[in-house]
Amino acid sequence: MNNFLPTGIQLFYLVAASLFILGLKQLGSPATARKGNVIAAVGMLLAIVATLLDNHVLNYEMILLGLAIGSVLGAIVAYKVQMTEMPQMVGLLNGLGGAASALVAVAEFWRLFSHAETIPLDANISMLLDVLIGGVTFTGSMLAFAKLQGLVSGQPITFPFQQPINALLLATYLGGCGYLLVEPNSLPVFITVSIVSLILGVLFVIPIGGGDMPVVISLLNSFSGLAAAAAGFVVMNNMLIIAGALVGASGIILTEIMCKAMNRSLVSVLFDAFGKIGSGGTVSAGTGDATDKTVRSIDPEEGAMMLGYARSVVIVPGYGMAVAQAQHSIRELADQLERMGVEVKYAIHPVAGRMPGHMNVLLAEANVPYEQLYDMDDINPMFEQTDVALVIGANDVVNPAAQTDDKSPIYGMPILEVDRAKQTIVIKRGMSVGFAGVDNELFYKQKTTMLFGGAKDVVAKLASEVKQL
Ligand code: NDP
Repeated sequence: MNNFLPTGIQLFYLVAASLFILGLKQLGSPATARKGNVIAAVGMLLAIVATLLDNHVLNYEMILLGLAIGSVLGAIVAYKVQMTEMPQMVGLLNGLGGAASALVAVAEFWRLFSHAETIPLDANISMLLDVLIGGVTFTGSMLAFAKLQGLVSGQPITFPFQQPINALLLATYLGGCGYLLVEPNSLPVFITVSIVSLILGVLFVIPIGGGDMPVVISLLNSFSGLAAAAAGFVVMNNMLIIAGALVGASGIILTEIMCKAMNRSLVSVLFDAFGKIGSGGTVSAGTGDATDKTVRSIDPEEGAMMLGYARSVVIVPGYGMAVAQAQHSIRELADQLERMGVEVKYAIHPVAGRMPGHMNVLLAEANVPYEQLYDMDDINPMFEQTDVALVIGANDVVNPAAQTDDKSPIYGMPILEVDRAKQTIVIKRGMSVGFAGVDNELFYKQKTTMLFGGAKDVVAKLASEVKQL
């Protein structure tokens, strides 16, 4: 195992770590986030260059080969990925990070084993933790990716004796670790512990679904950092330990924020099999009978009249805005309304879209002023004084069943209370359900009118109709 690196490199690492922390601080506000990203990226470049200059890195050919393959694959994927597929991409990258960290432990074990060296206790503990966290992150993230990509059902999957099986696997892992601490060079036990870690990752994510996926994604993100920190201990690299710890800590904070937004505790997300259905079943479509439901729909001309003659409009974007890439048309509509003296605000639900901050990123891309964006807690009391709530491609985050139907899988999740506005217009293509797979009573309410169509087209039509008022 490497000793601590020389002082010169440590100094570079110190500067890089400071840049990471500065970058993270700047990421705390949308106004400084871009700068924060650049600062952190410069820190990472510094850390990589310093590590490559370190004389422990001997095989530059292999590094160049890895760099070339990784860069080409990364560039192709980044070029092709749609904005709406970003959560899957984040899930995939988290998983690869976990796998890379776990492989560091595997490689170190193999190096010591093949040289018949006795594995020291501290290295042994780091390797076992690395294999567990990295393995769980890898397979858990791959499954989360498959769920979000629709390759497997997004619903929670449960099966008989699930918890006892989990407990048995955990006991096997712990038993294997205990054995390895006494007999560190046992290859079969190390392989068993590694395989059990991979299986635990699958079993960890499989019963989670519905509205809890945002929490899982951010938790796995945190795990990928902890796995990197564990890998840092394995090779005694301070930079890896610091960077991993920062990712781990910020991921946990984000997870906590997401849990709060969903009104859930982390324990219940992980162990309740939220919105549980038996495997192969379907989620209930909420309360009420479809036959007594009437939907009122309007065309863009009528919608424009409602908006143009309102005093206040709150725009509520959701996943459909991201799919349609409607943010620029929305900005144009809002500008037009403001020119006519209408007060425009945006209501941002923390889990709207498919990744944390999804709506903020898209609206920032369209240069929507930050001060017009309101968090859920701030905007909810304002809906009563709002003339029109304009829901654009949002569904679950405005579903009143979260407050009224205790059988609904989203029951308990705080929502944007758009039904308290004087009028609500909902733009979506049809009556399809959202991510959680539940029907939405909002669409059948007296004060709600549906404006059917793709968000980008409909909003563009609204903007041109409003202009003609
Ligand atoms: P939803 O997924 O609930 O609903 C989106 C709606 O958009 C659909 O009902 C769909 O209806 C409509 N839509 C799709 N395409 C278009 C289009 N081109 N134009 C207009 N409408 C369109 O979105 P919300 O944002 O309300 O809720 C987010 C959900 O995702 C929550 O359940 C959340 O828990 C979950 N989630 C969030 C993550 C996060 O980190 N933010 C991560 C993972 C999951 P139709 O097909 O009829 O048009």
